This record gives sequence, structure tokens and C-alpha cells, in this order.
Amino acid sequence: MSGTLYIVATPIGNLGDVTERARRTLASVTAIAAEDTRHTGQLLAHFGLHVPLLSVHEHNEESRATEIVARLERGDDVALVSDAGTPLVSDPGFRVVTAAIAAGMRVVPIPGACALIAALSVAGLPTDRFVFEGFLPHKSAARRARLAALSSEPRTLVFYESPHRLKQMLEDSMTAFGPARPAVIARELTKLHETIYRGSLADLRGVAQSDPDVSRGELVVVVGGAATAVDSAQEGQRVTAALRRLLPHAPVAVVVDAIVDLFGARRNDVYEQALTIKREAGDGFS
Ligand code: SAM
Repeated sequence: MSGTLYIVATPIGNLGDVTERARRTLASVTAIAAEDTRHTGQLLAHFGLHVPLLSVHEHNEESRATEIVARLERGDDVALVSDAGTPLVSDPGFRVVTAAIAAGMRVVPIPGACALIAALSVAGLPTDRFVFEGFLPHKSAARRARLAALSSEPRTLVFYESPHRLKQMLEDSMTAFGPARPAVIARELTKLHETIYRGSLADLRGVAQSDPDVSRGELVVVVGGAATAVDSAQEGQRVTAALRRLLPHAPVAVVVDAIVDLFGARRNDVYEQALTIKREAGDGFS
């Protein structure tokens, strides 16, 4: 009988989030493949477990995959964990899992914490469809190109981001998606300093600039998707209605500024439309 490879989620900060099944599984296997054996050693010590550890990281994953498959073939059960959360999600493990599948081994998930799902669950942005983008490229040209490619993506976007790149990421996101796009920063989830910041990208950039705490610790950035053609049409109708209501009572520039603030619409478009409405109305407006 071959052994089973268990893919075990561990907490993302709060040890209370380890599941009963994760504990039982870690206690039952003959070896645990871990991203960082010291880190996982501490987790095991916390639960009073003594199980041999094998390190699996991006530099040795290929050879470790072969070794783990050999153990499974001789009937050993092996667990794979990463430093935090669900293995393979922006973490090592993909090659181990594909090697085990290719060798016909049983691969069993032991689900648990995952930062992207935790962030999404409290973001208050649509969750029926979403896109997980993981970490953006570090180099600014590549990062901007990636964000530009996502600018008309209608699904909610989820990013992992490092604290020291947060401000730049928010700036680049404002350029790609517009400053009014709703977004959320979910910081230090499940930990003592857990904080959720919600607002437009411009609001969050402002908060990140004024409050150094925002860029401390671990964080997930969730960005609302682009308005669909139907949303845009409905928004267009609301803008037109607001212009028709306000233009008879205030100067064009004042009305346009108010509508841009309220709807996050593009100033040039609103201004053009205001002039058209005024022309159509003759000189009835101021
Ligand atoms: N496998 C992990 C998971 O399931 O979420 C993710 C590992 S990835 C290397 C680490 C990134 O996840 C961090 O840079 C941060 O973006 C996010 N993250 C992990 N723990 C977090 C937490 N407690 N609060 C907010 N974000 C967290």
C-alpha cells in the first residue's frame, strides 16, 4: 500500500486557527516536509509533537519531490506544510504535489487558514467572482504593466504585498484603476494588530502616507473590479441626471467638481457632457 501525501494548512498568525484535523494529521505522519524546518519545529513544539522534518523550499523542491514520492511509494504518509497558511498559495509545494499525482499517489487536503480568503471574507467587496494575483512583480515597469493589464478586469482583485512596497503599489494601482476604485488593506490578520482599512485607492494611499502602522506587518490588498458595461451605462445615466438637476443652479465648474467627487467619474468626460447639456438647453442655465 502506498502512503498518502497530506497538504496541511497551518495558522497565518494565530495558533488557535490550527484545525483538529491538521493536528491529528501532523501527529500521524512519518515525516513533515516544511518550508522552514525551524519555523515548523516551533509549531510542532507548541503542540507537543515530535515528527522528523524535511526542508522543502524553492531551491530544493525538485529533488525533495523525488525523495517524497519514494517515501510514499514505500508506504509512508507524508505531510507538507509551509510557514503560514495553505501550502502552494504563494508558497512551495507545487512540484511535490505534481510529482505525487504523476506517480499515482493519493494527495489529501487538510484545509485551514489562507490569508487571501480571510481578507476577502471581510473586505466587503464582491466575492462571487475574484482573481488572486499573488505578489506583483518587484520591478516598477513590470508591476505597472501587470496592473494596466488588469485595469478592465470586472472581478475583485486580491494581491499579496510586502509592507515596504505598499505605498508604491497603491500609487501604481491609482494610475491603472483610477483613484476612486474601492479597495481594502487587510493587515496582520488573526494577530494582535489586525486592522482592516477600507476606502477608495486614493483614501488608502492617504492613510498609508499619514499612518506608518499601515505598512507594518503582513498585508493583503483587495481591489474592487472594474465597472462592467452595464454598470457604466447606469453610472452614466446617474451622472447625466445629476448634471441636469444641478446645472441650472450653479456654475459649470462647480457642478462638474461636485459630480467628479461624488461619482469618481473622469473630469473631462463630465465637463464635455455638461457643455453639451448647456448647449442643448440654450441659455437657460447660468
Ligand atoms: N500560503 C499563505 C496563505 O495561505 O495565505 C501565503 C504565503 S505568502 C509567502 C505570504 C503573504 O501572505 C504575505 O506577504 C501577506 O501578503 C499574506 N499574509 C500572510 N499572513 C498574513 C496575515 N496574517 N495578514 C495579512 N496578510 C498575510
